[in-house]
Amino acid sequence: MSGCEHKISGSREKIWLPYYFEGRERGLKPHPYCIECGLIKNLSSDKPRSLGYFMNLIAELGVRHKVAKIQIRLIALEMERLGLDDKFGMDRQQQENLFVETTTRILNVPARAVSELLL
Ligand SMILES: [Zn+2]
Repeated sequence: MSGCEHKISGSREKIWLPYYFEGRERGLKPHPYCIECGLIKNLSSDKPRSLGYFMNLIAELGVRHKVAKIQIRLIALEMERLGLDDKFGMDRQQQENLFVETTTRILNVPARAVSELLL
């Protein structure tokens, strides 16, 4: 998943893909991609969050729900495995979807308990 340093393709080698601005599709735009791992660079207007931002949310969840240290560790490992902090390829929406999916699965809390923290 993550762990690639990402080498960006040259200006001529780009892939035409839908481009999103403020959550809406705004036609096609040439996207650069990584020539090492093939990941396409995210050009969304919604800047991705740092891993620290999500770790703070987990701490907040821990206050509201019963969360064991091992569960927090599991979530952190899972976010790393999924490359959640890979700002090259992730946009905020993708991060949030993965975060909700991971935390609800590991903590067994309703998705709403997580998504209300993301506002
Ligand atoms: Zn790469």
